[in-house]
Amino acid sequence: MNTVTGSAPGRVNLIGEHTDYNGGVALPLALPHRTRARVQPRADGVVTASSSAPGSSTVTFDRATQPGDVDGWAAYVAGVFWSLRESGHEVPGADVVVDSDVPRGAGLSSSAALECAVLVALDRVAGLGLDRTGMALIAQRAENDYVGAPTGAMDQMAAMHGGDGQVVLFDARAVSAQPIPCDLDAAGLALLIIDTRAAHSHADGEYGARRASCEEAAAQLGVSTLRALQEQQVDAVVDRLGDDVLRRRVRHILTENARVLRTVDLLRAGKVPDIAPLLTESHASMRDDYEISAPEVDVAVEAAMQAGALGARMTGGGFGGSVIALVDRERSDAVAEGARTAFERNGFTEPHTFVVVPAVGAGVQEDQ
Ligand code: ADP
Ligand code: MG
Repeated sequence: MNTVTGSAPGRVNLIGEHTDYNGGVALPLALPHRTRARVQPRADGVVTASSSAPGSSTVTFDRATQPGDVDGWAAYVAGVFWSLRESGHEVPGADVVVDSDVPRGAGLSSSAALECAVLVALDRVAGLGLDRTGMALIAQRAENDYVGAPTGAMDQMAAMHGGDGQVVLFDARAVSAQPIPCDLDAAGLALLIIDTRAAHSHADGEYGARRASCEEAAAQLGVSTLRALQEQQVDAVVDRLGDDVLRRRVRHILTENARVLRTVDLLRAGKVPDIAPLLTESHASMRDDYEISAPEVDVAVEAAMQAGALGARMTGGGFGGSVIALVDRERSDAVAEGARTAFERNGFTEPHTFVVVPAVGAGVQEDQ
């Protein structure tokens, strides 16, 4: 068996937040930033995992590892070995060496990039021939049931299905991914990422609370997921709920799904600049109805808009993380500078800013 290097991208979500666990739609794109995993098979069934990321110790475990054996960063690697076996796929032990330029913990999904890089390499090493959606679900199971993070499949679907100049229409109900053209360059546009470097300490609990509210609302409305109500008038649906908080949570989910579908229509029609107001509306909905924003995030969105961004929104689960701004290409430096100045004025840690284009999804390279 040959040594194989798998590589997989981070992702950013263009629009469609907290829709996945409601059977809804989202529109992520794969980033140029990638994680590489060099996988050298071993005959003795042992796995070693090491990473160039600071603070990642080298870990050794058996290829038949079980949840609880490995924690910390290497749980994402061990989880992939476990999840493959659970799905009935035999893989050998291996020396796994990881290197990455995906920012970690910035809401850009370094975790899915790591899982998918290891997974595509193991798929090739063991000659499994798995399809991309199948691999995304195996990686998601690793994260849910081995690492213990209850996330949807959007991150892994974006890492597996991303393409140059394309965003990925992820439909959580159908568990499908469809490429949608998004040629920012041709439109003279750029997507600026502002990593606010703010992370809310209660993010996990708040995530669980939002999920629970959606389940409660779906039960009261007599449907299995809120997606089932997508064809109905939003006002008519929310009027059937007695609780104001539930009303606002449901309004975010239904209007957000509608914004995703509208964005897809505009992108398919080549009207890229016209998606900008939908991004800004999405932010207002997350801030006011879903209440998942943070002061740093709101300052970044406002500063970006004041500095000439066409549209801006928080991306990711919320309470911090990154903001995306759609900008005319020649304005990207000015918008980044606007965010930095506003952060300084507010006494916040300086944000990281960088421009991205939609990039290609996970792939492998066989060593000679
Ligand atoms: P995000 O996916 O948004 O970056 P997560 O908390 O889901 O944030 O995942 C980040 C975690 O994934 C890190 O704390 C680390 O444990 C692991 N990880 C991701 N990339 C690497 C890497 N290249 N090397 C070691 N660990 C990594
Ligand atoms: Mg993650």
